[in-house]
Amino acid sequence: MALEIGQADQTTRVAPVRIGHWIGGAPDSAPVERHGDVYNPATGVVTGHVDLATASDVDRVVRVAAEAFRGWAETSLVRRARILFAFRDLVDRHLGDIAALITAEHGKVLADARGEVARGLEVVDFACGIPHLLKGGFSENVSTAVDAYSIQQPLGVVAGITPFNFPAMVPMWMFPVAIACGNTFILKPSEKDPSASRLLAELWAEAGLPSGVFNVVQGDKVAVDAILQHPGIAAVSFVGSTPVARYVYEQGTQHGKRVQALGGAKNHAVVLPDADLDAAADALVGAAFGSAGERCMAISAVVAVGAAGDALVERIAERARELVVGPGTEDASEMGPLVTRAHRDRVASYVDAGVSSGAKLVLDGRATALPATDGFWLGPTLFDRVGPEMSIYRDEIFGPVLSVLRADTFEEALDLVNHNPYGNGTAIFTTDGRAARRFQHEVTVGMVGINIPIPVPMAFYSFGGWKDSLFGDSHVHGVHGIHFYTRTKAVTSSWPAPGPGGRDYGFPVNK
Ligand code: NAD
Repeated sequence: MALEIGQADQTTRVAPVRIGHWIGGAPDSAPVERHGDVYNPATGVVTGHVDLATASDVDRVVRVAAEAFRGWAETSLVRRARILFAFRDLVDRHLGDIAALITAEHGKVLADARGEVARGLEVVDFACGIPHLLKGGFSENVSTAVDAYSIQQPLGVVAGITPFNFPAMVPMWMFPVAIACGNTFILKPSEKDPSASRLLAELWAEAGLPSGVFNVVQGDKVAVDAILQHPGIAAVSFVGSTPVARYVYEQGTQHGKRVQALGGAKNHAVVLPDADLDAAADALVGAAFGSAGERCMAISAVVAVGAAGDALVERIAERARELVVGPGTEDASEMGPLVTRAHRDRVASYVDAGVSSGAKLVLDGRATALPATDGFWLGPTLFDRVGPEMSIYRDEIFGPVLSVLRADTFEEALDLVNHNPYGNGTAIFTTDGRAARRFQHEVTVGMVGINIPIPVPMAFYSFGGWKDSLFGDSHVHGVHGIHFYTRTKAVTSSWPAPGPGGRDYGFPVNK
């Protein structure tokens, strides 16, 4: 099968391409009322026009997915697993093509884009084990000649709404598990970098997934609202900023849907005085400035405890000064541009705000030597002596801006982390096992790293934060994913010998 998206060289597009929906196993050819611009963030040039779905487009795709559900839910587990294996192989073979699309529309460096696809692929690996994962429990003779067992059944049509910062990995947190469980899936990717999801749709078709099981509907708030209100959609997984996550959770649940909505973050790294400061600084520059800070698990606040302070700031600054900012397509680049001009300007405005609020500007990303293109560039920025009342600490900036706060004691640092409204990820750097264990036990954050800066759980654990970083009960992928995308039925069964069984008007008790 020809890969129409994958074969387009995104870096040398001469005219913007149209990026449309994928409905019922094929590109959608219906007329389009609205479209949005997609940029190459390294050049500032518009490289694509993405179709923006209306409520009637969403209705169309729900009907197709509902029709496909009838057959897919009845497809044997072994057959589902074989299609997942074939998809896994195709994604692996096209990893470079998917990464190139991500770099072209998001801006992150190619190695980082490849890493994102590889982490998404781990969830496909996990979902390939679906025959084992869907095994229910069975208890023989719970009463005399009575057996009890549980089965897990798919929900129906489910939807995923995803952010710009991981255009392949975040959708892949959701759909491999949802589809493996027997649901049909509608993906609404970010309108800023929509091409990777279209290529993934083509790979599903090539893997032999029946038409209508995986669909992509491109769009913005209009499409999201239509998804949240559509009675034919049973569940919604959302990943994005906290205000939108809260809205999606409230709207989706009000419309009777099962919803998991993962939100934004302010991830702290606590560095104790006994830590290996060189190793900590190496880890922190990667975690703060990798992907231009546009990661939900990026470290954006460092809490330096006691004597760790000055030496740590000096080491982070040394490394950040050497960081090579450039187009994601160049091997030497370590950090690419921000995703849009508006976002770049918003992040730069936080640097202004940090200076006016009195934080010490150690490294100014506005003044870094940057590529001479019209791209959305901003260099790494480091602030020291940041106060918890400052907007650069309170708000999620989602850019290459790292704030260092000082604390006198471990307790003071822990208190700071626990009082932050976000609770996505955190890390501690120390050589003291007892301090690390206490931190892991007492911190009110969903994902914890010990001498690991970006503790993204493996596919067979589940990913999710606490507090304002997640609305709903379930984290994504792993066992939580299986639980989220199925409902459990408990069966109690007896096969008595023919003949009268006797009447009993009391509540059934076990014999
Ligand atoms: P966003 O909230 O702007 O957009 C996310 C999705 O919601 C997109 O598909 C977008 O089209 C849609 N959307 C945007 N505004 C909407 C509105 N008003 N009503 C309905 N739908 C709307 O997020 P983003 O800028 O694309 O991504 C960055 C954010 O995502 C950051 O806050 C980051 O922390 C968060 N994020 C969180 C995680 C996590 O696992 N917790 C992972 C990745 C990103």
